[in-house]
Amino acid sequence: AKAAGGNQYVRADADSDARVIARHSLTNRLPSALENGEFFIEYQPLVRLADGSVRGAEALVRWLHPVHGVLGPDQFIPLAEQTGLIVPLGRWVLQEAARQAYTWRKETGDPRLRVNVNLSPCQLTHKGLVADTVAVLEEADLCPSALCLEVTENDLIGADEDALRPLRQLADLGVDIALDDFGTGYSNLSYLRRLPVSTLKLDRSFTRGMQRAPADPVDVKIVEGIVSLAHTLDLAVTVEGVETGVQAEHLRLLGCDTAQGWYYARPGPPERLHTLALADAS
Ligand code: C2E
Ligand code: CA
Ligand code: CA
Ligand code: CA
Repeated sequence: AKAAGGNQYVRADADSDARVIARHSLTNRLPSALENGEFFIEYQPLVRLADGSVRGAEALVRWLHPVHGVLGPDQFIPLAEQTGLIVPLGRWVLQEAARQAYTWRKETGDPRLRVNVNLSPCQLTHKGLVADTVAVLEEADLCPSALCLEVTENDLIGADEDALRPLRQLADLGVDIALDDFGTGYSNLSYLRRLPVSTLKLDRSFTRGMQRAPADPVDVKIVEGIVSLAHTLDLAVTVEGVETGVQAEHLRLLGCDTAQGWYYARPGPPERLHTLALADAS
């Protein structure tokens, strides 16, 4: 990645970076990077389609590498998963995000603002997940319903009741669970009923065909079907990767509940959410 001044940066694509940067040197540096505070979080707003109000943001982690500049999660999360560092890193992200959500709510006076945090499969199977999450929420003085944990469909496929128990406990406490990248996995839809999830995050591959009019009729049918299924099961639908106004309007008409994407805002510093949330409250 190349620094381009301010907090703007150009991210080189993962393939070329992988060629340039020895994976093992990145892997070796991960633990000290966490200790040295080299990770930071950008937040991307989540917008309610019905009225355009900001409802919160997803926390997306980045690594400000002293030599290579800003690295995206696709370049280091897999390494952190292989080495187990994802557990302390994930806990750090959760802690930061919870504090941030507390601050947003306090400073805007808007109790609807929530924060979404991604969970990796290692965190899902880690024994301390429930206790750690509860501790983080208490420490941040954040109510459980202000947190949404995102897990991918693929990570839950094949999970039996024992494997789902921690998520179910968190859901019972009031934490929202979202099924991320929905539609990209092996979608046996009947399994949705037994998952403790309250939101489907539709993968952006389904909404790409709606960026410009006329919308791809097949994509429209698929989204229509998913929204109707989700609402039947009492699940909310969030759409990712909304890049144009045409797309946003179409998805609103199709009944999607919440949207996220460059059309509204790119991931950015936490302070920006105050501005956006305050602007829409007034
Ligand atoms: P994701 O959870 O599916 O996150 C959405 C990705 O789409 C983000 O990429 C975001 O920057 C990008 N995006 C948002 N809006 C648009 C848009 O309108 N158009 C397009 N083309 N892309 C958009 P990012 O930040 O590079 O994150 C990549 C993945 O890394 C995430 O995918 C998530 O799976 C993972 N990740 C990020 N932060 C964390 C974390 O703290 N923990 C874990 N375990 N994984 C994380
Ligand atoms: Ca996500
Ligand atoms: Ca996603
Ligand atoms: Ca993804």
